[in-house]
Amino acid sequence: MRPIIIAGNWKMNGTIAETETLLQGLLEAGAPSSNATMIVCPPFTALYRASQLLEGSHIALGAQDMSQHEKGAYTGEVSAEMLLTVSVRYVILGHSERRQYHAESDQLVNAKAKAALSAGLIPIICIGETLTEREEGRTEEVVAGQLEGSLAGLTADQLKKSILAYEPVWAIGTGKTATPDMAQAVHKFLRSRLAGIDKEAATLIPILYGGSVKPGNAGDLLGQPDIDGALVGGASLKAADFCGIVNAV
Ligand code: PEP
Repeated sequence: MRPIIIAGNWKMNGTIAETETLLQGLLEAGAPSSNATMIVCPPFTALYRASQLLEGSHIALGAQDMSQHEKGAYTGEVSAEMLLTVSVRYVILGHSERRQYHAESDQLVNAKAKAALSAGLIPIICIGETLTEREEGRTEEVVAGQLEGSLAGLTADQLKKSILAYEPVWAIGTGKTATPDMAQAVHKFLRSRLAGIDKEAATLIPILYGGSVKPGNAGDLLGQPDIDGALVGGASLKAADFCGIVNAV
């Protein structure tokens, strides 16, 4: 059985005051009615405060990115070790906004994934096609390339600890969601490509869907056999919406 994971990517939202309000809302709502794992990924500056508020709770903490380097002269970067000191357990890597605005390649995402796993963090590795790529009929080619490039050289053990997120770029923050059938088709394809790398890992790796997931569409998406959770952007900024998605599991 794969775990069900609902992760909130706050992006560049969340002052300390906003973080306190949002986390208090999530905590007051109580543990989910399902057995879903809830993760929130606030910006770096809010992680320490979030770790204090979430200590001993049912909500786990994630970061939105990290450096592939351990330490040193990398101005502006944050290492895996630094994240561990503020109780971070998960880290989003290769989000399409990192790939698009910071030119992150599969090779870089792969280096970050290896650094995260070596340090004991669980990477949530994001892949997904653009609208043009989908319209050109290249979805499978694109996501297979991203999958294989981002996971290259991971040991079977490291693969089994990783989480994958399929996020069609055209569905992120646009209000357009892949239909459950469209998303399931890509998730099934990704699982078959994972099986080509390691059969056992393919059955164990949770594949999350991301792209305008809301309380109203979460149930149908999460009902698909190869969709093991959601990576949620906009709707993770409102406690009621995020809890609505978690409770749709
Ligand atoms: C995301 O940022 O990963 C995301 C899926 O955003 P949204 O839910 O707003 O589309």
